[in-house]
Amino acid sequence: MTARKILLGNEAIAVGLAESACTMATSYPGTPASEVLSTLVQLKKAENLQLHLEWSINEKVAFEVALANSFAGRRSVAIMKQVGLNVAADPLMSAAYTGVKGGFVLVVADDPGPHSSQTEQDSRFLAMMAKVPVLDPSSPAEARDMLPQAFSLSEQYEIPVMFRPTTRVCHARQDMELRPFPTGDPPPQFEKNPTRWAATPKFRLILHGQLNEKLSNISREPSLAPKFLNEIALATAEKPRICIVASGVVLAHAKEIMMDLGLWTKIPIYQVPMPYPLPRSFRDEILSQYDRILVLEETDPVIELQLQNREKVFGRITGTVPSAGELLPEAVEEIVRTFAHLPPAPRIEPPNFPGRRPTLCAGCPHRATFFAIKKAFPKGIYPGDIGCYTLGVNLGAVDTVLCMGASISQAAGFYHAYRTLPPEGAPAVCATIGDSTFFHAGIPALINAVVQGARFTLVILDNSTTAMTGHQPTPASGHTLDGTPVPQLSIPEIVKACGVRFVEVEDPYRLDALIDLLKKAGGYTRSEKGGVAVVVAKHPCLMDRAQSASRIRREVTVNEKCKGCGLCIKQFECPALVSQGEKEPIRIDSSLCSGCGVCVHVCPHGALTVVPKNE
Ligand code: SF4
Ligand code: SF4
Repeated sequence: MTARKILLGNEAIAVGLAESACTMATSYPGTPASEVLSTLVQLKKAENLQLHLEWSINEKVAFEVALANSFAGRRSVAIMKQVGLNVAADPLMSAAYTGVKGGFVLVVADDPGPHSSQTEQDSRFLAMMAKVPVLDPSSPAEARDMLPQAFSLSEQYEIPVMFRPTTRVCHARQDMELRPFPTGDPPPQFEKNPTRWAATPKFRLILHGQLNEKLSNISREPSLAPKFLNEIALATAEKPRICIVASGVVLAHAKEIMMDLGLWTKIPIYQVPMPYPLPRSFRDEILSQYDRILVLEETDPVIELQLQNREKVFGRITGTVPSAGELLPEAVEEIVRTFAHLPPAPRIEPPNFPGRRPTLCAGCPHRATFFAIKKAFPKGIYPGDIGCYTLGVNLGAVDTVLCMGASISQAAGFYHAYRTLPPEGAPAVCATIGDSTFFHAGIPALINAVVQGARFTLVILDNSTTAMTGHQPTPASGHTLDGTPVPQLSIPEIVKACGVRFVEVEDPYRLDALIDLLKKAGGYTRSEKGGVAVVVAKHPCLMDRAQSASRIRREVTVNEKCKGCGLCIKQFECPALVSQGEKEPIRIDSSLCSGCGVCVHVCPHGALTVVPKNE
């Protein structure tokens, strides 16, 4: 009997990569893509696969490392989320010109919604801009099966291929058959050809012409041509005058909705597995056959734009489909009903659950750091960054969040904006960044701030892991993703090497000491010979069970001094502090309390105490 397993979309993608005999996978963690590499780690161990795997320092580096493996004739993948592709946009644009040798697939997981991203940008547009083909799977099983095809396409045309699942594909589960993985690792063979791999601008023009020709041939690739899914719709006596064109997970929603509404036998539907480049023959065919064409795709109008007929084609550009947000089944049903002139669906009001805004974990060391920052710089400007600690916004200690590494550049920008004011009239600037984000994009920004003479306090929230995406190692961890020991980089030493003269480390659980240190750092930034001051707030992430120091054995109790003023809940927002009503003493939820004891400092009435826990 054939073995079967229910796989998460990202696990299915990892299986598809292993089935494609991929020899290198690089990534920077980011939801919704993070589980692809961690699954490959497990597969490598379980199946003894010959694979180099790495959590690279950022997406640009991940892309470039994997690309070199492809130049040496071996199959490679670089994996990231959509905003990560912005970081890797530079090598992507250039690699489209040079082309590749071994199959090179760029997995970019988009996040319509957006559920955990700063934008809901559509990576297919970057594929179009770079001039590389992009494949759009509609389910986990299809994602897995498309990957060998993506590698073949990449090798046949010597071009990078983008593979773009969305959150609902990455995080859906589907039952599928298990197949044996191919064995054998092709020997590396880099053939020197400077006119291609190191092409000067003169040769780049030639490469651009070749790239255009490749794209034109790829658009005619029969295996990736749009597929007509419901023959039965054409078997009706009257030829339909309308059709639907869909791609990605929206196609899966549309199919189900058409069956439920009895439209499957009435309206032809086409799947577009490769939204770019769209074959000219398909465009001509559907525009001549139908009077009205509905395009369903996430997130932006990539297919719709290529159809180039605003009289017949309906989608995001015409306003038939909302211009932002995820196309959930309810939304698709409304659109399809309107398009097919059916009455709207009866509205079912969702139950009104009391909402709760996202917050840092109980006992998270970052909460203590943010509390200290507000105490030290009560009227400060707080540029923030991307990670768990973005939630410092709820604590009033994060004023800006732009993209990875931007807290440092923005802190410098704020300093220069106010530099003409006398120091007492200018607000203190205190930026925050996590350890992994500091390595990712913070270092160049810090160097720039130092050499441009900026003055601000930078707090590096060092919890010794990449917490938000699942505890991937950082360059300071001292080991790679499979536990292999490697050189352990020191953040304070790197900060010093960036030219910073004030660097000190403190544990945020020592709240008073941290507040004092931050005040000292702020003083340094304003002193005659001052500059950027860096405070490393170092304490392990409580959720990272690999770090033993993250476990605390203490108990927090509420005594009779509690007035129920609610100050601790408002200012500290720890989920373990529970209100029992106005003026009622608060309660500690022992199932959540980590025993960090930082809240003891927050209560001005001494109502919270910490005692060692009896085991
Ligand atoms: S996962 Fe770790 S770093 Fe993130 S909020 Fe929880 S304790 Fe803090
Ligand atoms: S613990 Fe302190 S701050 Fe919190 S409600 Fe009681 S008295 Fe107020």
